[in-house]
Amino acid sequence: MILWKNGTIHTLKSPKDTHYQMATHQGLIVGFDEEINNLPFTQTVDLKGYHLYPGFVDAHLHLIGYGRYLEVVDLSQWQTKADVLKQVATSLQKGATYFEGYFDQKITKQDLNEISETKPLILKHNDYHSLTVNDFVLNTVGIKSESGFVTEADTETISQHFLTASDEVVTERLIKAINKLYQYGITGGHSEDLSYYNGYNETVKIFEKVSQKYPFRTQLLIHHHVLDDFLKAKHQAFSGHPFLEFGPVKIYYDGTFSSETALLHIPYQGKDHQGIRILAKQELETLMKKIRKHHLTVAVHVIGDLGLLEVAELFKKYPPQKGQKDRIIHASLVCKKALKLLKTLPVTFDIQPQFITTDLPRIYPLFSRPPRYLYPFKTYLKKGFILSGSSDAPIEDPNPLLGIYAAVYRESENQIHQKKERLSRYEAIKLYTSGANIPTYHMNRGHLEKGYVADFTVFEKNLLTVPKHEFLKNTVKMTVIDEAIVFHNV
Ligand SMILES: [Zn+2]
Repeated sequence: MILWKNGTIHTLKSPKDTHYQMATHQGLIVGFDEEINNLPFTQTVDLKGYHLYPGFVDAHLHLIGYGRYLEVVDLSQWQTKADVLKQVATSLQKGATYFEGYFDQKITKQDLNEISETKPLILKHNDYHSLTVNDFVLNTVGIKSESGFVTEADTETISQHFLTASDEVVTERLIKAINKLYQYGITGGHSEDLSYYNGYNETVKIFEKVSQKYPFRTQLLIHHHVLDDFLKAKHQAFSGHPFLEFGPVKIYYDGTFSSETALLHIPYQGKDHQGIRILAKQELETLMKKIRKHHLTVAVHVIGDLGLLEVAELFKKYPPQKGQKDRIIHASLVCKKALKLLKTLPVTFDIQPQFITTDLPRIYPLFSRPPRYLYPFKTYLKKGFILSGSSDAPIEDPNPLLGIYAAVYRESENQIHQKKERLSRYEAIKLYTSGANIPTYHMNRGHLEKGYVADFTVFEKNLLTVPKHEFLKNTVKMTVIDEAIVFHNV
């Protein structure tokens, strides 16, 4: 039995509900304050005046993709086309042919051909839905593109040819990602990885193996491409596993704003297109019927307002079992009609507050009319929707402080974006604690209470009261999963 003392223990059942000491045993919270005074403790953890919270969870990310991101050249820091090309050329000399974090600076395949015609050059765009590649890549896989820009299905073809890795490398990436998340105070995540690497079964095995040494509460989303593999292997569905579980079936409905593939009601500014639907209507309906037949739920990626309305209509037509909830990943732009319809459905939203700071300033010019409900988080909360906080890492840095800060202040480039949609700090913290745990259906996660899991995130300073200019400098002092200290910085 462990005693946690000398700190402020924030239960997050309400903003001011705190305790000064806590007992845990066999991975669960046993009690607080005076009631635990006479328990037989075998170990004491001194919290040194720090602030302990329920473990922070990232409700949508790509763990293996994040591990890969941590080892490749990130282009996001280079602001001009010339700088990006220079970085690509120097990195190629060191053997790098694949790059991430590229914000479109109108680089074409001709620019890349000048750097190399005999080696592949692949620039992954920051939205992870598109690539810019040289002719060597296009010719190898037999895809035609005038500019070297490819998106969606072509991106997948190229990735399957050029970006596979051995099981050992994938394992290393997963470990790297989890270690980094420990440093950020993250104790769990809902990850979509199973269709991109070395096959469904191999990837599941890698998660199983890594979980034995690196505890991390992981929910694995099942990309619809591997649904058959999942159904075939259902016997190994991790039942009772402390760290691994399967989540909903992941479906991409539309694309992204920056690739102009998010599905909008009104065409993009100066264009005659409104975005795309990734799956044809008939294909999608067949898929939904199959998913429901197996009593599974879905998590649908949708960014555009027309896309979200159509997804809501689809959910209404094919409802889940009683007690189940579907998930919308992103829900970036919404219209009044969709808001009303969604309110009648059992859905939760996986949101990424950091998109406000990284995406918003770039995408305003894409809209023909200023959108009313863009990342409308306060509106969602006021209407009673359940919001789960996430980073979509590697798209955003999974440091939850960045997400909380973005949701609270909505600032970038000296501008506040839709002031009315700002959340309070308490609301924003709840996105990553109770909110992020609701889609797991585990009733004993997300705040601190007797019988709840001993997953904790310990910060140096109080997240609710630290001054704004110090908020992002707050440091993680300890990360605890299943009562074990997995990261320590004291
Ligand atoms: Zn994602």
